Amino acid sequence: MTDEENRSHSSFQALLDAAVDAIIVANAKGNIETFNRAAELMFGYSEAEVIGQNLKVLMPEPYAREHDRYMDNYQSTGVPRIIGLGREVTGRHKSGRVFPAELSVGKATTDDKPHFVGIIRDISERKSIEKALLVERDRAQNYLDLADVILLGLDTSGRVTLINRRGCEVLGYQESELLGKDWINTCIPANKRESARRQFDQMIGGTKSWHQMSEAYVLNRFGARRLIAWRNAVLRDSQGKISGTLSSGDDVTVKRQTENQLRLREEELNLIFENAPLGTMTLDLTGRLLTLNNALCNLLSATQDELVGYSFIEAVHKEDQDAVQSLLEGLTGEIYPPATSMRCRMVTRTGETIHVELSAGAVHDQSERPEFLIVQIQDFTDRVRSEDEAAELRERLTHVARLSTLGEMAAGIAHEINQPLTAISTYAQAGKRFLAQNHVDVDDLSETLELMDRQAQRAAEVIRGLRRLVRQKTTHREHLDCNQLIRDVVKLAETDIKSDNTHIDLQLTPDLPNVAADSVQLQQVILNLIRNALEAIHDVGKKGNILIRTDMPSPDWIKITVQDNGPGVSEEMLVNVFSPFRTSKEAGMGLGLSISRSIANAHGGELKFENNSGGGACFYFTLPSVASRD
Ligand code: ADP
Repeated sequence: MTDEENRSHSSFQALLDAAVDAIIVANAKGNIETFNRAAELMFGYSEAEVIGQNLKVLMPEPYAREHDRYMDNYQSTGVPRIIGLGREVTGRHKSGRVFPAELSVGKATTDDKPHFVGIIRDISERKSIEKALLVERDRAQNYLDLADVILLGLDTSGRVTLINRRGCEVLGYQESELLGKDWINTCIPANKRESARRQFDQMIGGTKSWHQMSEAYVLNRFGARRLIAWRNAVLRDSQGKISGTLSSGDDVTVKRQTENQLRLREEELNLIFENAPLGTMTLDLTGRLLTLNNALCNLLSATQDELVGYSFIEAVHKEDQDAVQSLLEGLTGEIYPPATSMRCRMVTRTGETIHVELSAGAVHDQSERPEFLIVQIQDFTDRVRSEDEAAELRERLTHVARLSTLGEMAAGIAHEINQPLTAISTYAQAGKRFLAQNHVDVDDLSETLELMDRQAQRAAEVIRGLRRLVRQKTTHREHLDCNQLIRDVVKLAETDIKSDNTHIDLQLTPDLPNVAADSVQLQQVILNLIRNALEAIHDVGKKGNILIRTDMPSPDWIKITVQDNGPGVSEEMLVNVFSPFRTSKEAGMGLGLSISRSIANAHGGELKFENNSGGGACFYFTLPSVASRD
């Protein structure tokens, strides 16, 4: 070796040793000729240990076997297969540890002999970083797939670079079907593509770096449109150049539809609320007015401003405040109490007292706690007034009718009282005669006095009955035996009946349950019916028959019937018999039946009539029995 060659060799050696990468030179058979310092460190062998050894010692199985094949192949064909750059191989350390390495192989020929120079770099670290990156990427992909929103990445020309699982679900495509596709042409409805493209270009052009939330339709694989709420951002590379966009999208199709339906429903409810004929309001749980409708304003003669925010209870009549307060409190306490209602009085802004029916219910939140109250108010002041007026009118009419009945019967009554008086007078004269004869038969005298007393009792009874009838008193209900009541009334009307040549028959069902009624009013009804029957019979001038019957159409009801053999209700009166002041009689007032019917109704019963098939009329009324009330 010349000096020159020596120098060149030692500087080559220095170069080899200084190299960071392992450099191994092998001959055509694969036997190691050169093994630099870095190779020693990488493989754990000293140069002396490996020189002359086959390269296979540096490889684990199955690479070692494969290497043999390469070498054989090279021997026979002269074509080395492993020459090239950056091939990834696996090396084996002396300790047996294997590691990934990058191998570049070159061929050199000296003295006509081929040598292979391998430069090897341990890429364990790079590999583990790559592996970590892969793990990270998988994890990121998992996150993307787990996300409940669509995640969409586009490159600068609008091609899909990323789409997560949710995106694939919404769009109906596989990930592989979308990656690389032009997003706008594939997934945006045709009529929206132009504007979508414009927006996208603006983002990519940097004129709109962050496009705020926007909603747009996408077209899925099956041609259906889904409404997506998008948030978009541009992505930049390490130089800050825009490299694409990343968007997250929420499928709000159903949400918007539901919202729309809810909005419509709310509008509908508002309309109903505003225009409800009943006063309607919402109250917070402390009873303060939150909202109210026009009907309520009208009812309380106040404006919205005068009511909203105020305590509802203040508008309630002082005497009813406690009851209303406890009704409202009952609603806020329990879970889901039923809606309730009550009658109470309220006072308007102008100080007028009104009668209302108040219905209230609680509206609950998701955790079933009462959130607010809805209250409806129905004004029935007019009804109360007209009921009062009607009751007063009825009372007055009853009195008038009673007096007129009495007037008409006065003659008969006078006769009725006259009879016992005449008898008393006759007995008194007889008594006087006994005394004058100076011969007093005590038995005769005692019998005469007894007869006098009986007649006086009879007169007193008639007077008592009259008193009872004429006295105007407010309704007083007591438990009454209808059969007895009828017998009393008939006794009172007896004189009329006799003078009219009319026979009265009683068919009274025994053991009738009592009724809760005002005796005077009931007598009035029966008396009216008897009197009408007598008058009807009188008109035809034949021998009259009146039948008064009691029976029980059902265990809860009692029926009283007054039937006559007169002409029956005339054609023209058929629809009017119960109308006040409708009469077919010259001196009639036309009040008897209308009063009688209102009395029957006030007792919970009904007064009706029908004409008998064999002639005559049949009036009957029902009353609930006391048993049915208990
Ligand atoms: P008034 O007896 O004063 O006419 P009512 O109200 O008692 O008043 O009777 C109204 C009308 O009903 C009578 O005028 C008569 O035409 C008819 N009416 C009532 N009772 C009978 C009856 N038993 N038979 C036929 N018509 C009757």
